[in-house]
Amino acid sequence: MLIAIDGPAGAGKSTVARAVADALGFTYLDSGALYRAVALAGARDPATLDIAFEGDRVLLDGADVSEAIRTPEISQEASRRATDPAVRKALVAKQRALLAHGDWVAEGRDIGTVVAPGADLKVWLTASLPERARRRGVPPDEVRERDQRDAGREHAPMVAAPDAVEVDTTGLSIDNVVRRIVGLVRERVS
Ligand code: C5P
Repeated sequence: MLIAIDGPAGAGKSTVARAVADALGFTYLDSGALYRAVALAGARDPATLDIAFEGDRVLLDGADVSEAIRTPEISQEASRRATDPAVRKALVAKQRALLAHGDWVAEGRDIGTVVAPGADLKVWLTASLPERARRRGVPPDEVRERDQRDAGREHAPMVAAPDAVEVDTTGLSIDNVVRRIVGLVRERVS
C-alpha cells in the first residue's frame, strides 16, 4: 500500500508522514532528502550518487549528511536543482525502485502526480504562508520563493493531484492531522 503526501514547504509533511507511517507500521520516504543530497553533492551527476536512508539518517556515498542537507542554502539549491529534468529522472527512478516493495508513506512535491500516480491515498498538505515560515524558522519571502520555483517549473511542477484530499494544517496539532490521515487510510481499506 502507498500513501502519497505532497504539498509546499513547511506544511508539516515530514513530521506528519513519519507519524502516519509509524501509526500504520509502514516505511517513510522523505523524497526531499534525495533532492537535498543532490544539491549538497554539487556538480556531480545525480545518477552516479549513492544516496541511502538508514533509519532517520541520510547517507551520501556512505557519509552521514543528515544535518548538512537541512540548511536554508541547501533548501534553495535543492529547489533549483529540482528543475533539471536529468536530476528528476534519476531521482524518480530511485523512488520507484524503493516504493516497488512494501507499504509506504512517501512525501514530497510530485509523489501523487508523477512518482506514484496509482497511490492508494493522496493527501495535499497545506498551511498558511506565515505559519509555514514560522515552522521553518525562515522569513516568509524565502518560503514563497521556493514555493514559486517548485510550482512554476516546467518538469513535474508542485501541484495537487486531482484526486488528492486537501488537509489544511493551519492551527491544527500534529496529532489531529495524523489522526485524520490515518482515518482516511482506514476508510480506503475497509
Ligand atoms: O521537502 P523538502 O523541503 O526537503 O524538499 C526540498 C526541495 O526538493 C523542494 O523545494 C523541491 O524543489 C524538491 N523536491 C521536489 N520533488 C519532491 C521532493 C522535493 O522537487 N518530490
